[in-house]
Amino acid sequence: MNYQHHYTDGTAIDLPMGKVVCVGRNYAEHARELNNPVPTEPLLFIKPATSVVPIGEELALIQGRGPVHYETEIALLIGQPLTGEVSEAQASAAIAGVGLALDLTLRELQDQLKAKAHPWERAKCFDGACPLTPFVPAAEAGELSELSLQLEINGELRQQGTAAEMITPVLALLRHVATQFTLLPGDVVITGTPAGVGVLNPGDQLQLAMPGKLQVTTRIAG
Ligand code: ZN
Repeated sequence: MNYQHHYTDGTAIDLPMGKVVCVGRNYAEHARELNNPVPTEPLLFIKPATSVVPIGEELALIQGRGPVHYETEIALLIGQPLTGEVSEAQASAAIAGVGLALDLTLRELQDQLKAKAHPWERAKCFDGACPLTPFVPAAEAGELSELSLQLEINGELRQQGTAAEMITPVLALLRHVATQFTLLPGDVVITGTPAGVGVLNPGDQLQLAMPGKLQVTTRIAG
């Protein structure tokens, strides 16, 4: 595995890469665009550490398993353990940094698995399925409810959203996750995607931004 957490200034973060806890359907518009019901409690799944890659100048997609779709998401780097019933203050203090993730998904395979009521892992947990940007230190992240994301592909705005639109907002989500899975330093929680998901093609130029805080550009290989 060739990944190390970094801050946006290039400093390596002294935390191991752990698991990535993901939430599905955390923005109502995205749930509707895929004809999924809006859930009444967070829909959680986990990507393994082996799915994480840094977003560099070029991003290589998995080959031969069908179309790869993007979902741009706000990512929270965990710096302190969170387990069981935790307060909002504990959840807030556990965030070491904020960044962006691409929750890459083999959508055709996921649809087949969903139709059979099988687990999604093969569609979402493959090597390279979770590209991550560097993290903005929590002290510089500002109000969590004002965090926002944007994705442009080939200069065209495809996705935008803010944490204020989340069905389960950031701290409530961390508190809920901690009741289900222990979060350890180095784990990452990704917080769901707004509407506008779609397929990635070789040669696409991607610009991921947390306006005013973080901007990363990459090109899809091939
Ligand atoms: Zn997602």
